[in-house]
Amino acid sequence: MATQPSAAPSTAEVTDRRHDGARLLRGAPIAAEIRGRLSGEVSSFTERHGFPPTLAVVLIGADAPSAVYLHQIVRSCRSTGVTGRVVEIGARVTTAVVRRRIQELNRDPLVSGIIVQMPLPRRIPLRAVIEVIDPRKDIDGLQPENAGLLTLGYEGFLPATAQAAVEIVKRSGYRLEGLDATVVGRSNVVGRPASLLLQREHCTVTMCHRRTRDLAGHVARADLVVVAAGSPGLITGAMLKPGVIVVDVGINVVADGIVGDVHFDSARQVAEAITPVPGGVGPLTNAILLEHLIAAARAQHDDHHTSAPPRPPAARAP
Ligand code: NAD
Repeated sequence: MATQPSAAPSTAEVTDRRHDGARLLRGAPIAAEIRGRLSGEVSSFTERHGFPPTLAVVLIGADAPSAVYLHQIVRSCRSTGVTGRVVEIGARVTTAVVRRRIQELNRDPLVSGIIVQMPLPRRIPLRAVIEVIDPRKDIDGLQPENAGLLTLGYEGFLPATAQAAVEIVKRSGYRLEGLDATVVGRSNVVGRPASLLLQREHCTVTMCHRRTRDLAGHVARADLVVVAAGSPGLITGAMLKPGVIVVDVGINVVADGIVGDVHFDSARQVAEAITPVPGGVGPLTNAILLEHLIAAARAQHDDHHTSAPPRPPAARAP
């Protein structure tokens, strides 16, 4: 059964439909709308407090794909009046030094949000790094307290990419309630939180991973497929149910440029809607991170927020 939008898209310009295939769900127009709204919030915050919200991006070692992503974040910060501070730490640093630098940022009243650029060098355990981030500054929702809040269905900071993967579908006018959703990938950064968010939206969720026996079968049954595997062309049009909505989170650098995890040309012949790569989930992720940063800054500095937990615009409670 084809999945139809429940209402006219709230942001009609977000999408365009090609005559020969699926509707394209683009992230940039939604991101622009969010950034437009945030600019006003940033200037009134800056006026009230005499300093802008500041994001600290911790970069350990000079990893090329990370550096590209980092520049996008810093550009995105500047365009809304937020300060982006890059904290570069040499690749040969010890875990203890990384933890100390993060603790310094936790104590810095000017820094409202902290993200750690991934992947980390192999010898630095991710857990040892993320667990020291102050949960009130953990705007990418990776720290155990925020991950726990998400699991329990309470408000907290959500992982921005997972939130973007769900928001792009909702903001395009599709109703998620009751859909059979298959998520391919179960990382703590994308797949697992995306599956939890889809459950909050009342989807029936199947999670697939490298050891799943019948990936094709689970994908073929789904009304909504979210793919975050890091494997170019893993999902093809032949695997999809006609009328499915496809969210491709993958970012893979190949000889021809950047591609997702979905074979776009075949999938768009079958799907009702699909996010392109690049131009789908990625641009929205950065705007959502900024949204979280401003929520964190307000929670830390606005009087009426001082004793309250951060309240980013999270998905509805179950
Ligand atoms: P990861 O390597 O941590 O996790 C990949 C997951 O996919 C694992 O759970 C693994 O079991 C599963 N998987 C891999 N190959 C599979 C296969 N053949 N069949 C079934 N499952 C398979 O990766 P990640 O950090 O979750 O990132 C996933 C992708 O999303 C990457 O391409 C990454 O670049 C991209 N990403 C995009 C954004 C964005 O803003 N759009 C942000 C973060 C990550």
